[in-house]
Amino acid sequence: MAKLNKPKSRYAKSEKLFAEAVKLMPGGVSSPVRSFKAVAGEGGGGIGPVFIKEAKGADLTDIDNNTYIDYVMSYGPLIAGHSPPPVRAAVAKQIDKGSSYGCCTEAELKLAKIIAAAMPNVPMIRFVNSGTEATMSAIRLARGVTQRNIILKCHGCYHGHVDSLLIEAGSGATTHNHPSSPGIPDSATSNTVLVPYNDLPATTAAFEERQGKIAAMIVEPICGNIGVVPPLPGYLEGLRALCDQHNALLIFDEVLTGFRVAYGGAQGLYSIRPDLTCLGKIIGGGLPVGAYGGKPELMNHVSPAGPIYQAGTLSGNPLAMAAGIATLSLLDDTAIDGTSIYTQLEALGSRLEIGLKAAAVAANVPVSIQRVGSMLTPFFLRRDGSQTASIKNYADALQCDTQAYARFFRSMLDAGVMLPPSQFEAWFISSAHTEGDIDQTIDHAREAFKAAQSI
Ligand SMILES: *Cc1c(COP(=O)(O)O)cnc(C)c1O
Repeated sequence: MAKLNKPKSRYAKSEKLFAEAVKLMPGGVSSPVRSFKAVAGEGGGGIGPVFIKEAKGADLTDIDNNTYIDYVMSYGPLIAGHSPPPVRAAVAKQIDKGSSYGCCTEAELKLAKIIAAAMPNVPMIRFVNSGTEATMSAIRLARGVTQRNIILKCHGCYHGHVDSLLIEAGSGATTHNHPSSPGIPDSATSNTVLVPYNDLPATTAAFEERQGKIAAMIVEPICGNIGVVPPLPGYLEGLRALCDQHNALLIFDEVLTGFRVAYGGAQGLYSIRPDLTCLGKIIGGGLPVGAYGGKPELMNHVSPAGPIYQAGTLSGNPLAMAAGIATLSLLDDTAIDGTSIYTQLEALGSRLEIGLKAAAVAANVPVSIQRVGSMLTPFFLRRDGSQTASIKNYADALQCDTQAYARFFRSMLDAGVMLPPSQFEAWFISSAHTEGDIDQTIDHAREAFKAAQSI
């Protein structure tokens, strides 16, 4: 009798590698956000993560030779797409001259100047290696300067995996059901106070209950780590006023939004002055980087200018600086006559938003498509109509139909569109995406929305 072969999976090589990966690394991944666990379908048996072999522009290719239009974009850094030629050239030029010196380089000054010119609230900066290090260090600085301990943080905002900030955190922590992690002693979080995002009355009350004790409020000016949730009108202005009134520092975590929503970040877009700004992602152009900065009166408290200690073997790494300088040079509004990259990104984002909305309506799937510029999330609302029509905070986001998102995700993956494997993440558009890419994505979404609603 002829042996019937199981049809070969289009992800066969990835499946084989993933089986090995889970033996070598927890969950088979180097960061939980990359896991497909939350979108794997009933019993989790559906699919594992695909393994990527190369990328160019807006496209990814996996080891089974499937190609994808990429909206993960490494979770934000790749605003000009994968390996844009000027970034590739800058990194190649630097590697010929060495990868790290443990000494000062002119490149650090260049990147610092570019950032200071784009963000007038960041005239002085310290480079670190990740967004997590940036927020961790900014918190230390805020506490050291104010000589107060309490930090206000919003439910659902993600500021990296810093002990004191990993409570009710978004991103992978929410996707994998650990918004607050074991392994963090109460002593590390006892000075963290949580307030809902977009809720000024609750924040006002939190300040009033702790007069003279709050060092800082840290916030994502546009929440991107529960999916995209913009600030309500007046919210950020209100936070600025509260911090002024209570002599607390306002820390904007712009690791995601910096150079993403505008050249000057969310603080430029909304004209708000934070005391400290955390950066990462785009300023490293795809290489590991982070930074925190503010006025010299604050930053000069950092060692060796001041007593607040913070250091790093690879901080200001020449390769990362080269990639960052090359990337930001592509973005500078003033550098390109008339046609800003942000105008292009806004047009592409708007096209995707409108197309997805129409596709969802046609398939009769209730979604709230939320977008600021080139970051976008379709929130899959509950079909029983019990949910508010838009998502304005963490509690709203948690009510979403994550299984509908999972079905949508799988349908899009099979059609060649790479989305973040979680309802609680932003999709990112780059300047390498074309109108053709967006239209193709919308075409596939028509089918995927149908798949999302069928159970
Ligand atoms: C990604 C992110 C971080 C953490 O950055 P890492 O480089 O992953 O440590 C912090 N804050 C926000 C808002 C982020 O999006």
